[in-house]
Amino acid sequence: MDISQKKRTLLKVIVLGDSGVGKTSLMNQYVYRKFSQHYKATIGADFVTKELQLDDKLVTLQIWDTAGQERFNSLGAAFYRGADCCVLVYDVNTKKTFDTLNNWHDEFIKQADLNDDEAFPFVLLGNKVDVDGGNSRRVTEKKAREWCASRGNLPYFETSAKEGYNVEEAFLYVAKITSENE
Ligand code: GDP
Ligand code: MG
Repeated sequence: MDISQKKRTLLKVIVLGDSGVGKTSLMNQYVYRKFSQHYKATIGADFVTKELQLDDKLVTLQIWDTAGQERFNSLGAAFYRGADCCVLVYDVNTKKTFDTLNNWHDEFIKQADLNDDEAFPFVLLGNKVDVDGGNSRRVTEKKAREWCASRGNLPYFETSAKEGYNVEEAFLYVAKITSENE
């Protein structure tokens, strides 16, 4: 098929989770294949885009980051409006970032004004699995999967933005499940 005849789809993906879990790093790794140790609270842009080809579809992922405003109710309605997928991120080495997942999940459902909460695609990422060879881990994969099961069987990926581990796979999965709904 001629590429110009392919269906083009724009998908809005929102990345949520506590400050410091690696949201910006995951996006930078996925889109630019870059990682920085230096902590920057904001990237100064609302979203980054990545184009990919899925079978007969051309998909543009528009990935929205929080610019250091990771407090509940601090993200405006425009941030959530028209979202096609929500990626929740926690840090496997910090229990608190796992405990707040309920709040992020609830907050998204409330703010995004979804037609059907249960059918909406959420994906959970457990990031920073590289740290200390896994020795400083505070949340087991089993616990994370139990949480996913309790929230309607959300898909789960363990990632390292630093090493690029599973990042491409996770976002490819996001693109696939999200474009199926279009
Ligand atoms: P955000 O606040 O959720 O956007 O988190 P950032 O992407 O700014 O990352 C916070 C800090 O964690 C930065 O110093 C990153 O370099 C670091 N970081 C992010 N992802 C990883 C990872 O997978 N492994 C390690 N070791 N550090 C990471
Ligand atoms: Mg950030």
